[in-house]
Amino acid sequence: MHTIIGIPIAKGIAHGPVRIIHDTSMEAVERLGCNTVEEIQIFHDARNEAIGEIETIRLNTMKNIGEHESKIFEAHQSILEDPEMINQVEAYILEKACCAEWALTVVGNRIRAIFESMDNAYMKERAIDIKDITCRVVNLIMGHYSDVGSINEPYVLVGHDLTPSQTSTLETKYVKGIITEVGGKTAHSAIIATLLKIPYVVIEKGTTLLKDGDDVVFDGREGIVVVDPDQSCLDAYHAKEKQLVQEEEKYAGLKGKVCKTQDNMEVELIANISQIKDLDYIVKSDAKSVGLFRTEFIFMDQDRLPTEDEQYEIYKKITTAMSEGYVTIRTLDIGGDKESPLFNIPKEDNPFLGYRGIRLCLEEVEIFKTQLRAILRASAHGKIKIMFPMIATLTEIRETKSILDSCKKALDLEGNIYDKNIEVGIMIETPAAVVMADVFAKEVDFFSIGTNDLIQYTMAVDRSNLKISALYSQYDPAVLRNMKIIAEAANKENISVSICGEAAADIKLLPYWLGIGIHKLSMSVALIPEVKWTISQMTSTQGIEVVEALSKAGDVREVCNVTHHPPYTKKKVATKSIILGGYLLLDVL
Ligand code: PEP
Ligand code: MG
Repeated sequence: MHTIIGIPIAKGIAHGPVRIIHDTSMEAVERLGCNTVEEIQIFHDARNEAIGEIETIRLNTMKNIGEHESKIFEAHQSILEDPEMINQVEAYILEKACCAEWALTVVGNRIRAIFESMDNAYMKERAIDIKDITCRVVNLIMGHYSDVGSINEPYVLVGHDLTPSQTSTLETKYVKGIITEVGGKTAHSAIIATLLKIPYVVIEKGTTLLKDGDDVVFDGREGIVVVDPDQSCLDAYHAKEKQLVQEEEKYAGLKGKVCKTQDNMEVELIANISQIKDLDYIVKSDAKSVGLFRTEFIFMDQDRLPTEDEQYEIYKKITTAMSEGYVTIRTLDIGGDKESPLFNIPKEDNPFLGYRGIRLCLEEVEIFKTQLRAILRASAHGKIKIMFPMIATLTEIRETKSILDSCKKALDLEGNIYDKNIEVGIMIETPAAVVMADVFAKEVDFFSIGTNDLIQYTMAVDRSNLKISALYSQYDPAVLRNMKIIAEAANKENISVSICGEAAADIKLLPYWLGIGIHKLSMSVALIPEVKWTISQMTSTQGIEVVEALSKAGDVREVCNVTHHPPYTKKKVATKSIILGGYLLLDVL
């Protein structure tokens, strides 16, 4: 039994055998002098297994996401059944007496090169599919797992990172925990794991430190992974699990009730959503509205841009499902850590400081207009608010609003119906927007604070860089002061202000959010019950006390001495704290 220290990401107790999911870019090594009959058989066995795996993924995608999205897997299956490809692999094995995985890699690369050299953009993109498919079969031959959709027994998933398509095929029945080598609380994989209640930690070099079949147990709140736990260790973790279940039961008692403090200050708790598949979770939750719909996921892992009608159907579906409240649709925020081959994003040294969010939309005006038209049309079916990401200047706000106006005019001429008074808001996630918040507040109907980005830009620390992750902290007084400036500017202009970054659900900061005048928090619905319960135990005066105490804090440690031991509790103050990844403080009393 030994332990590995990681960074806590999503809460819960995980226990099970490790399955390492390999990077799809791994490649075979040439082995010559092989028995060609055996190698051809190995190739066909793996090919058939891959077709079966893809069928499972296709069906899951169709059920969970949609028919359109599942089509790509049909194409993958037909490539594996293509006689031309099969003949070429067999011929190569026979000619060179090489191993099956090598022959497949060579033939796969050849076919890829043909697609890549084509002028047609659609055909060019097929090269990615060929790579995906050959890697899947090569991994099967080499006994590695390259995707998560096909494993149907309990396991703890260990990988370098998870792609959006991998996260969308996670089967909660089988995935007991997740360990990746990169990422953080704000990464897409973390957001999905939180929603699905899968315990998650990040461990640098996790795929090297762990191996297939290792028995591991961990608590996603602590980040410490125990390898080969003995019985007493397992008993301790099972006791913790029981305690977590009891806590969940306690929180569930407030379901359906208004979220308010003991002195009746109401707080609106609403939902973040990234994919249409999440809608089931949202509808069953306590959230009546959506505070952030990350629409870029409609554009990711696709082989073409979604049409206006396809987008309209998605927005309409969510809006109709949230008929008691409203849906805040954030326009395309591609770039940074969210890549898509559909856009011409140049390789950048600093993608987070580069061509992303509103900057891209203001260049790709036709794509932007298609989305705005779809959103406007969907607003005929329920209450929608439009939100623009990554705003840094007043010019961006004005240009964006003028494009929106031109879309409205075009819809008017076509006789289309939409909400003429649709609310327009911006995300506050750049320090420029903080400084200009008083000016911007006069231009828009609402602010929503994207703390995930605001922290990284305020602290000048890449939100996905583990090396400097201790600096990425919502407890930094610089971040907290920025939050106060934004809230004051919004409240002064009487416009709504909310938080939709992960910090919205930080239990330790709830008094501060209320104290600075933020009464609307948008988060993963999995986190709402605990946040609601915590607010129900507070008074609004406590929020004011915390704001007062924090106004004097000079660094993270001084902030945490207040947030983790607020003035209204009688607890002793920590004398020494350990900060892990900017999130966790282990207090040594
Ligand atoms: C944020 O930056 O806080 C946010 C909600 O947006 P995203 O995480 O999608 O960048
Ligand atoms: Mg953001």
